[in-house]
Amino acid sequence: MNRYLLKCGCCDQKLEIYYADDGLEIGGVNGAIEDWREILLPLLLIEQRGGKLIDRCKLIRKRK
Ligand SMILES: [Zn+2]
Repeated sequence: MNRYLLKCGCCDQKLEIYYADDGLEIGGVNGAIEDWREILLPLLLIEQRGGKLIDRCKLIRKRK
């Protein structure tokens, strides 16, 4: 499995993310890609509409 190692910007904490085509393990927690998308996309300001991914950051910036 491929791995990302994320380091905190302020201390020594690290987060390991392992990823494959069919699943993701984040911080030792296994999940299907689809489950992680449901949880993470809204937090990253990405909206799923039909089959499309909408970048809400862009929408918010335009409104200003
Ligand atoms: Zn920290």
